Amino acid sequence: MRPADFTLSAGPNDVTAAARAALGSPLLYHYDPAFIERFKVAEQRIAAIYGTTEHEIILMQGEAVLGLESAARSVVRPGMAVLNLVSGVFGKGFGYWLTAIGAVLHEIEVPYNEAVDPAVVAAYLDAHPEVEAVSVVHSETPSGTLNPVREIGPICRSRGVVTIVDCVSSFGGVELRPQEWQLDLLVAGPQKCLGGPPGMSLMAVSEQAWALIAKNPIAPRGSFLSMLDWKEQWHGNGKFPFTPSVSDLHGVSAAAEELLEEGVDAAIARHSRVAAACRAGVTGMGLQVWAARDEIAAACATAIRVPEGLTDIGIRDHVRARYGVQLSAGQGAGPIIRIGHMGANARPMYPIVGLAALGQGFVDLGVKLDIGAGIEAAMASLAASGALPGSADR
Ligand SMILES: *Cc1c(COP(=O)(O)O)cnc(C)c1O
Repeated sequence: MRPADFTLSAGPNDVTAAARAALGSPLLYHYDPAFIERFKVAEQRIAAIYGTTEHEIILMQGEAVLGLESAARSVVRPGMAVLNLVSGVFGKGFGYWLTAIGAVLHEIEVPYNEAVDPAVVAAYLDAHPEVEAVSVVHSETPSGTLNPVREIGPICRSRGVVTIVDCVSSFGGVELRPQEWQLDLLVAGPQKCLGGPPGMSLMAVSEQAWALIAKNPIAPRGSFLSMLDWKEQWHGNGKFPFTPSVSDLHGVSAAAEELLEEGVDAAIARHSRVAAACRAGVTGMGLQVWAARDEIAAACATAIRVPEGLTDIGIRDHVRARYGVQLSAGQGAGPIIRIGHMGANARPMYPIVGLAALGQGFVDLGVKLDIGAGIEAAMASLAASGALPGSADR
């Protein structure tokens, strides 16, 4: 079967040209000094994108779910009170891990098109001083929504509570300042806004997070899930806990280098403009953005309400089969179809392709829409946002 002509999913998508070339570079022995140097450079690049000098960078060698599970297992000891903030399926899923590991689970849950209110978090922590950690998803990719981690960070830090942040789909595409925002344990993925291959977890860890992990007698050691092995063996002693994913490291590092050359702020602005155009197109053609408000809509993917009588899988498969465009379904977050615009796809004309294919797909299935009005609205939004940074010097 042919791959889709356009992959506009919520990740993974095709990587940047630089990352693709780097993925095919010679495979090095992991103790070749050249590889060790490359590994350290990759860590520095990830730290630079996180914009932090205070957090320790841990590059775990598996897709971001590895980093997330590892964070949960490293922090949580049985009987520990953890407040999990839920505004979508990734937040909900994190709570299942917390419970399985033995945490006393506290939860604040909002509808999956909404965001958690920081004032509610502050009040909850004041009423429950036993809570030692708060877990939150920055960008709930299935819902296309953001949580206000900028406000949540200082609320937690001032109460001595450690934050665990799933920033898998915000890293490199949405403003995120772990140091200023006082966030502790962050897990990003390279296959979303960074435009790299899936297969690694990009973690940033504060002193406060390490202190909490140090209190946990069941934090994994001698395990693929161990953050401590990376800290103690690799950072402490120059020994990899196991053979790293050499090719992935090359790909991730190249994507990170490219993003740093563009500039983190420029990359964020690029994602934000393309996302705004996509939302303008959605409403312009008569569809509804799933996020309750524009301010909480995520820049990595636009979630669109699927009209009554249709299913997310049905419309996704129709658009793929008829028009060769791969979109993402709702992943259980609701009646949602998603147009991804992340990484290499966060460029002006990509959402136009997604909007045209999705709009016509809905029309084929009997929904009344004005596709032309949607495309005009999206183009007007792009026109108003000016030239993309960097375009002038090509
Ligand atoms: C992509 C993503 C992950 C990684 O999960 P997969 O199901 O393996 O893609 C975790 N959290 C968020 C918010 C994500 O977008």
